[in-house]
Amino acid sequence: MTKKLTGNEIRQTFIDFFVEHKHTFVPSMSLVPGGDATLLFTNSGMVQFKDVFLGTDKRPYTRAVNSQKVMRVAGKHNDLDDVGRDDSHHTFFEMLGNWSFGDYYKKEAIAWSWQLLTDVWGLPKDKLYATCFEDDKGNIPRDDEAADIWKEQPGFDPSHVLFFGRKENFWQMAEFGPCGPCSEIHIDLGEERDNLRGTEHVCGVNGECTRYLELWNNVFIQYNLFEDGRLEPLPARHVDTGMGFERIVSVLQGVDSNYKTDLFKGVLDVLSSLTGVSREEMYKDFTPYRVIADHVRSAAFLIADGVVPGNMGRNYVTRMIIRRAARFGTKVGLHEPFLAKVAEPVIEEYGSFYPELVKSRGAILDNLTREEIRFARTIESGTAHLENLLSELRAENDRAERSEPSGESRRSAVLDGHRAFDLYATYGLPFEISRDIAREQGLDVDEEGFKVAREEHSLASGGGKAMGKLGGEDAEFFAGILKALQKNKKLGEHGVEYDPYTSPTATGEVLALIVNGQSVDSASFGDQVQVILPRTGFYIESGGQVDDTGYIRAERSASEVEAGGWEIEVTSMRRASAGVIVHVGEVISGQPKVGDVAVAEVDLQRRHDIMRNHTATHLMHAALHKVLGEHARQAGSLVAPDRLRFDFNHPEAMTPEQIERVERLVNEAIAADMEVVPKLKPREDAIAEGAMALFGEKYGETVRTITITLPSDVAALEVNEIIAHPAAVMEKLPKYSYELCGGTHLERTSDVGAFIIVSEGSAAAGVRRIEAVTGRGAYDLIARRFKLLKQTAAALKTSIEEVPFKVESLQDEVADLKKELANLRTETALSSFASHLNNIQTVKDISVMALEIPNSNVDTLRTLADKFREKYPKNGVALLTSGGMVIAVVTEDLVKRGLKAGDLIASIGGRGGGRPNLAQGSLPDPALMNDAMSKVAKVMEEKLK
Ligand SMILES: [Zn+2]
Ligand SMILES: [Zn+2]
Repeated sequence: MTKKLTGNEIRQTFIDFFVEHKHTFVPSMSLVPGGDATLLFTNSGMVQFKDVFLGTDKRPYTRAVNSQKVMRVAGKHNDLDDVGRDDSHHTFFEMLGNWSFGDYYKKEAIAWSWQLLTDVWGLPKDKLYATCFEDDKGNIPRDDEAADIWKEQPGFDPSHVLFFGRKENFWQMAEFGPCGPCSEIHIDLGEERDNLRGTEHVCGVNGECTRYLELWNNVFIQYNLFEDGRLEPLPARHVDTGMGFERIVSVLQGVDSNYKTDLFKGVLDVLSSLTGVSREEMYKDFTPYRVIADHVRSAAFLIADGVVPGNMGRNYVTRMIIRRAARFGTKVGLHEPFLAKVAEPVIEEYGSFYPELVKSRGAILDNLTREEIRFARTIESGTAHLENLLSELRAENDRAERSEPSGESRRSAVLDGHRAFDLYATYGLPFEISRDIAREQGLDVDEEGFKVAREEHSLASGGGKAMGKLGGEDAEFFAGILKALQKNKKLGEHGVEYDPYTSPTATGEVLALIVNGQSVDSASFGDQVQVILPRTGFYIESGGQVDDTGYIRAERSASEVEAGGWEIEVTSMRRASAGVIVHVGEVISGQPKVGDVAVAEVDLQRRHDIMRNHTATHLMHAALHKVLGEHARQAGSLVAPDRLRFDFNHPEAMTPEQIERVERLVNEAIAADMEVVPKLKPREDAIAEGAMALFGEKYGETVRTITITLPSDVAALEVNEIIAHPAAVMEKLPKYSYELCGGTHLERTSDVGAFIIVSEGSAAAGVRRIEAVTGRGAYDLIARRFKLLKQTAAALKTSIEEVPFKVESLQDEVADLKKELANLRTETALSSFASHLNNIQTVKDISVMALEIPNSNVDTLRTLADKFREKYPKNGVALLTSGGMVIAVVTEDLVKRGLKAGDLIASIGGRGGGRPNLAQGSLPDPALMNDAMSKVAKVMEEKLK
């Protein structure tokens, strides 16, 4: 090694090396694995290629190289316990890998790892070891193939091949499925790096000490393992390799800790300047610094991938590591928020390779500081409480030891998990931090008990003080809230009352507030909050009609913030579980509290726009049946405030006339001011009466129907009859439209205002899609189009009515001008041609012309060819080109002597054909006309008899 590579350079040389060997560089996938619900975080480089190995996905490449972001804080791979305590563990790290998907195999993979480690990176050959697989159970063949390949590597010591069994050298994706032997590369760092030096221990590869370090694992996927234990060779064999990035950097930079590489230099510099502690002093008590460095880096990457601090699942992990870093900060004297300052050099160091860090810079710094401040509010009381519990525990322990000094009693020095959970639920003290503190005092916390308490709590959690659970199913959480509210008689047996039809405002007590997946007593300004009220008039998306939006306010006005006023902006709605309807939004002023009386108000203007589009959708559905036929049934729809979208069955594109007719029919129905009447009735009856129902939709026993009827038909009926039986009469009226529908509608069609079809196109095979606008949207469209038309008329210097004629006459004018231009060009060409005609070369008594005529078209070239034949009816040969075109002429007498026009084109390298006396073709390169004369002379010589 001539010079030490930086971390970024090491990553890049790895990628470049494999790209040179025809690998495709594949960027790291997010820490949040898409489409894999079984995994909390991406925990290996394999995650994004899993489907390729299982054969359920194909990629456009068969060789890949990547550096994958990885988190190991949960599940099978949980390194959190070791992070900080040693020099090699991280919650977040990078995994370098090269991959073959049924492409190369052991020979290439091993040779390349050897080349990269020794030639490119210059590691000493005599210090490297390779392990290969030998089954300790004796069922799977020994991997001699890999061992033999290793022994062939230049400079590799053959005695450095070592065999290990299933635990170390066999890889399985899962209990069954793809699997195969591994070959690991280890390095001997020398005696001085042996942490057990001088003691009795297994000192060697896969031994007990730190002298031998595994660098790189090459996995050769070659078998498929079946449930019955059968092992079959895979048709396509793969290579999957993994090399911990931080580890190889530490080896190449010659340092004894991942945290002493340049990757963490900026972070430690900042910590040094914040604490005033020198690097040497830091190394003496390195643990808190390692924890902070590791956790801040993880948090930055998590937040960049959208995982902000919270109370459930992944979000909990972000919260926990930030809080843990903050607590270790207090151990080295950092009490003010400092994590954002430590995150800056992380963004600096990694930003060029992971641009998401730079893009999310604001969010990273902001979330870190906010979470630190939140934690600071409770940490003191939380840890004080914990200290009390721990000293009680110690006292109990001492008493027990005195009375029974057998040593057995050490086991009681474990804090009850339920108590640890209370600390979290009350003070936001994560389990991991309680355990840290306990362990620092030689005690521990019962993790199982904590988990049990958390489970129990999430089941029992209702309103009031209860906390949400930390992970798992959302619906269960809300079902728990519902149960508690029903128990307190705050909600009836059907849960939240839902009525978006009669009143857009509803008043009631705030029953629950949920922030960060956790039920809270009150929310603060800026919180993303979910609100449960006893009843709501907000429509929940269904049947294509979108959610309502609006506001929830304290019954007191929002301007009286001081007096307890507050306001929440509702942006969406959801049915969180059966009987639970949740308003989702943000607190825009004040501090809403559970128990406050609130008024929930739908944004009426927006709702009105939605209703216009919904009623118009029904009118259009009916019009489509009239114009296209009964087959034009609804296949999907969207009813939004700004537009409506309607998919229907129809085998072909609608004609412009059909579109115009549908638009006209709907507008006539609007103008007719028809009545829109909703009615609940038994499903059987509605269907029997011919109400349009959606195929594949589930309907209950009682359905809601929307009827649109013509009042003009009412006039034809006896007045007395109407007065006597108004409902019965309505039933008898011919219906313009009759549908099963749960949406909100206008009372009269005239409220739609206007209806304009914006587009008609294909949505799927046999399904067409219409987009249209109504009311204010229609006006906006008309106004916009009209303005364009006015501008066009002004540009054309004419009136709007005259625009089409003016455009037509302009088009005629352009056509005339084009024709005139073509004539002019021909004339120009002819006159220059005339001078060439007089200036012709003679080859063996034959008049030969080879000429390039710029700016001509085929017609001009043909005219010129005719001119040539007129002047030379006998003994004449001509080759004319322009641009990429070529035309050749040979007089009849010469054709009889064996020369064809096509021969001339071929002689200069052109392509084409035609009759023997006149051929036409193309010339790939104008330069082929150089020396045309001699080429023509040559072909004449060959062909003419
Ligand atoms: Zn050792
Ligand atoms: Zn509808």
